[in-house]
Amino acid sequence: MTRDVELTYFDHAATTPMREEAVEAMLPFLRDRFANPSGSHRASRDARRALDEARDEIADCLGVKAGEIVFTGCGTEADNAAISGVLRQRGGIAVCAATEHHAVLHVVEHTGGRVIGVDSVGRIDLAELESVLVEASAAGSAPGRGDGDRSRAATGDGASAQPVAVVSVMAVNNEAGTIQPLDDVARLVRRHAPGALLHTDAVQAACWLPLPSLTAITDLLALSAHKFGGPKGVGLLWVRDGVTFEPILQGGGQERDRRSGTHNLAGIAAMAAALSITVREREAENLRIAALRDRLVDGLLATCPGAIETVPREHKIAGSAHICFSGCESESLLFLLDQAGICASAASACASGAMEPSHVLAAMGLPRSQTMGAIRFSLGYASTDADVDRAVSAVPAIVERVRGRSPQVGALP
Ligand code: PLP
Repeated sequence: MTRDVELTYFDHAATTPMREEAVEAMLPFLRDRFANPSGSHRASRDARRALDEARDEIADCLGVKAGEIVFTGCGTEADNAAISGVLRQRGGIAVCAATEHHAVLHVVEHTGGRVIGVDSVGRIDLAELESVLVEASAAGSAPGRGDGDRSRAATGDGASAQPVAVVSVMAVNNEAGTIQPLDDVARLVRRHAPGALLHTDAVQAACWLPLPSLTAITDLLALSAHKFGGPKGVGLLWVRDGVTFEPILQGGGQERDRRSGTHNLAGIAAMAAALSITVREREAENLRIAALRDRLVDGLLATCPGAIETVPREHKIAGSAHICFSGCESESLLFLLDQAGICASAASACASGAMEPSHVLAAMGLPRSQTMGAIRFSLGYASTDADVDRAVSAVPAIVERVRGRSPQVGALP
């Protein structure tokens, strides 16, 4: 990358720089150990051993059995496989929160599922979830857990007349940083829809929450390596023993017929290395990064009048600093931040550039006059004191400049 200004990277929720250990873990498989792990000769057997070792290492990090890990091409694929795969096999409908990443939300919407509202900090409305589960369970028996028995799938004439096959609630929101009350969600699902599976998109959780506490209460869980110091283009779906789904990729039958396609062994080895370090350092990093985040947010709130912290810190992960700068447009802020070498985002990375109103902030019921100046600064393992110093000294002048240019902005409804 050419760098004419020093880069101040506050976009870890979009992607993280690769950990050096992950790069090192990857290189042998790009060079000498290039063989296909599905072959039978000695080079393939060596690759197979490496694949098994990576799987064991990752399973340890998740507190699960190695055979429950299905490697995928990304987090999006893992989410799609979890929801579409379960629906295709069992029928019924999917239910999710309104603030899910589009990798979940679009699948649920396109399959005629139910979307549950959230409160003003982005936590799923448990009362609404409960009533949807109760209503659906009254419609008939839910599909069986993991038995793949299509005959018991309902054939009702509308979403509300069908049993719930899968509930998908993300562990951590990618935009606002909100931690979902997954324990409460799991209790409701087990009580009112005992036949349904619980999936969690944990793509934004790996650096912040203990993963075994998530696998303990769910049936399916998605991760993506590039969110925790691994490479892009590799992820995984954890599938609890006994749970089955119809694979969305069919072909050579890799991953015990759950995900066909030649393994990205270099990526998988790097993902294992990155996840191990992330899990090992998680507690210490949570403390270090929370202190950086607090200094960043407190500094900006003190120096930018009218700035609002979108979600109180007790509801979110340490790496999330989400601020609404009143009287500004995010697009103008991002442009000037970028000129100062500060990398941040307005909505989720996939939507930035399009500058559509964020579905996450809209679902939280925040007024457009507030959210139009929303900026996500996301911190991670590569964040430093110097990054915070640069942002705290540069951002107030940038906000002032944008406000000076957009006097009409604050007057919008
Ligand atoms: N889920 C969440 C919460 C995410 O933040 C992302 C990426 O931004 C994804 C899923 C998709 O992951 P990937 O980029 O690996 O497809």
